[in-house]
Amino acid sequence: MELRLHDTLSREKRSFVPLDAKNVRMYVCGPTVYDFAHIGNARPVIVFDVLFRLLRHLYGEAHVKYVRNITDVDDKINDRAARDFPGLPLNEAIRKVTEQTGKQFHADVDALGALRPSVEPRATEHIGEMREIIERLVKGGFAYVAEDHVLFSPQAMNVAKSDLPRYGALSNRSLDEMVAGARVDVAPYKKGNTDFVLWKPSKPGEPSWPSPAGIKAEGRPGWHIECSAMAWKHLGEHFDIHGGGIDLVFPHHENEVAQTCCAFHRERMANYWMHNGFLQVESEKMSKSLGNFITIHELLADWPGEVLRLNMLKTHYRSPIDWTMKGLEESAKTLDDWYRVAADVEPGRPAASVVEPLLDDLNTPLAIAALHGLRGGDVGALAGSLRLLGFLSDSAGQWESRKQQASGVDTKEVERLIAERTAARARKDFKESDRIRDQLAAMGVAIKDSKDGTTWEIAR
Ligand code: AMP
Ligand code: ZN
Repeated sequence: MELRLHDTLSREKRSFVPLDAKNVRMYVCGPTVYDFAHIGNARPVIVFDVLFRLLRHLYGEAHVKYVRNITDVDDKINDRAARDFPGLPLNEAIRKVTEQTGKQFHADVDALGALRPSVEPRATEHIGEMREIIERLVKGGFAYVAEDHVLFSPQAMNVAKSDLPRYGALSNRSLDEMVAGARVDVAPYKKGNTDFVLWKPSKPGEPSWPSPAGIKAEGRPGWHIECSAMAWKHLGEHFDIHGGGIDLVFPHHENEVAQTCCAFHRERMANYWMHNGFLQVESEKMSKSLGNFITIHELLADWPGEVLRLNMLKTHYRSPIDWTMKGLEESAKTLDDWYRVAADVEPGRPAASVVEPLLDDLNTPLAIAALHGLRGGDVGALAGSLRLLGFLSDSAGQWESRKQQASGVDTKEVERLIAERTAARARKDFKESDRIRDQLAAMGVAIKDSKDGTTWEIAR
């Protein structure tokens, strides 16, 4: 069976045909490093990690190149640096913020079982490429200089007589409607109200670089140009897959397409545009003001990363996801079971029943249902399939100790107390067995007796 992927531009599932099967190329927009990443940010990380693993499975590990950038120049970073390190010169403070946040991001996504991308370029290391693209756009008549800014004109793109894509095609919007609906209080240096910034002057003390297009004052790049530059440097003018969250379709990805296609006279930037749906928490939009804003870091204090990973993949990547405590508890139980059954067996080839749904636009919920189906049968195939999806990175013993670290409960001690309690019950010493039950409850452990014995879980 062939791989089929849903493409946002053509709005349909299409067979995936790489430009070069020896060098399959994917770009995914990465984090802006100014704060802990939240669980919504984990969604593209996990989803595109599954796609990266699947592509490696299909084309060979050496033949897939995955680029995920780090945005380390941004107003939010500058604000955070000034707030957190008021005594330092701004540039030094910025370096501290981006270094700390970058490290934290890596620790978080490693714990989620995500492979590191082949390249993780930083925006500030690609200013030269940004300048070159901007120069090309100005020369081509797609961008202009005004008051030390360089602005891109979507209207210039859409009147150009060539086989460029139409501005608005990716996000399915009409430029005329955007022009009509744009805000009136547009910056005075803009010729058109939909023009967007490629380059802008830096304020004193802010990071700055020599400007392109003959501008004397130093400046800094706009956000959209960063991804065009990094994708170009590492993947070329035209590559296979570009991904990110659905919120990035407009304006970020629409503008990336415009910049790259106009700079290199291309009909396309990426052949497949893939976007994950949004995550909300307990049926509410996640936001700082609602107080339901959860970081990956906080969740990792309570749950092993694989629980978060499984919980994310139970929903198809294009659907909205409702992140709930109940879902996490169920995911933890499922992983307990998989570790018990499959962690210590020799992994076999991933089962066709798991791979096939993945080939159908990453249908992870169906793949997970198929994993449940393998549980009572071919456990070698179960183990191999779980590894393809990035699970079972440890032995069963290590899983237990990781759970213990996350929950703060000493599982060996729990097992010992349960055995003692079973012995007390056997000799009908119910006073002692009740005492042990209370002791476990005080440790945050709930137990359940059945005819098959006593099971336990962490009471939340
Ligand atoms: P940002 O740092 O806000 O640019 O986001 C980094 C990545 O996380 C982008 O691909 C976003 O689309 C994605 N993202 C942000 N919030 C959510 C959310 N609530 N659900 C799913 N993806 C999100
Ligand atoms: Zn981007």
